[in-house]
Amino acid sequence: MPMIALALTLSLTAAPVGLRAEEGTTRKPRCDALTTAAVCRDTPNGIVVGPNEQAVVQAAEEAAMAETTWAAAFGAEPPAYAVVLDVAQPVDDVRAIGALRVLPWISTSARRRTMEQAVREAVTRQAPAGQVEALGAAAVQRAAPQIEASVAKASQPGVMAHELGHLWYIETFWKDAQDGDGYGSPAPDWLDEAAAVLMERDGLTEARRAAFHKVWAENPRAEAVSALMAEVHPAFASGASATALTDGPATGSGPRVVSMSGEEFQRRTGTDINAAAAFYTRVRAFLDFLETTTGDHAALVRLTVHLRNGGTVEQWFAQDPAGRQMGGSTSAADQAFKVWADAKTAAAT
Ligand SMILES: [Zn+2]
Repeated sequence: MPMIALALTLSLTAAPVGLRAEEGTTRKPRCDALTTAAVCRDTPNGIVVGPNEQAVVQAAEEAAMAETTWAAAFGAEPPAYAVVLDVAQPVDDVRAIGALRVLPWISTSARRRTMEQAVREAVTRQAPAGQVEALGAAAVQRAAPQIEASVAKASQPGVMAHELGHLWYIETFWKDAQDGDGYGSPAPDWLDEAAAVLMERDGLTEARRAAFHKVWAENPRAEAVSALMAEVHPAFASGASATALTDGPATGSGPRVVSMSGEEFQRRTGTDINAAAAFYTRVRAFLDFLETTTGDHAALVRLTVHLRNGGTVEQWFAQDPAGRQMGGSTSAADQAFKVWADAKTAAAT
């Protein structure tokens, strides 16, 4: 039985090249400017293009919700964007009408079809010609609960919003900066991830909080904050490049979103999938700690601007009001975080 549970979605954001809106423009992409045979819906600051009404409406609702979350977290509307489902439209077409960032995404039904096809192929590869169809159908039927669970997990509210968070963060704060390690923006990896994790919805957020209890019980590290701030995203920690995580170089410009099983992730990166998941869990926990300790929703924006201007994390903790509330240094924040996390996990057990 092939291992098909989707474990992780990575957004590999190559710098966009080619068509691009004029600098300083406030033009938003609108469906009526797009020549297309696909279905298109406007959102407040973008468009969603896809193969059918149902898929597009679902994605447009999540994107619009993500815009609201973004505005609350970052104090401004997100940059003009497009979501293209199931390769329903060339990326350059939506760039040409003003999308500064494009998220290629997969609809729920296409994801299900892809998984079913993978199961069918794995089982029927060596089947006698006359039995291919029957064996394939039986295998898909047997795997149906597993496929449904994977589809539900990958399609749950917040997964697509997470990826939009990455794109909007890069476009808003780092669009002129060179990408360092192939993952996200030149910001530290935890901060890239924080912008995305903030976009997630209740179900995912609660799952991450529950996972933190386990992570903390196993490893109540004394230097949790400073370790997180210095850490390379686990997908790249062993030196794997963005290219190793995909099937070779990007064929077009712009971002690629890669979904893979835990097995596949381990094979390509040499990193255990649980270690990777724990990175996201710890980012969520730090965001909760920041919120509890400071209640300061502009802290991440100020930290981002400080880092972009060449400052260090340590300077920020010493100088910024939120940094000082967390202790005024990463080592003081480590101690404060440990007190917070110990109390939090004790209260839940
Ligand atoms: Zn992410």
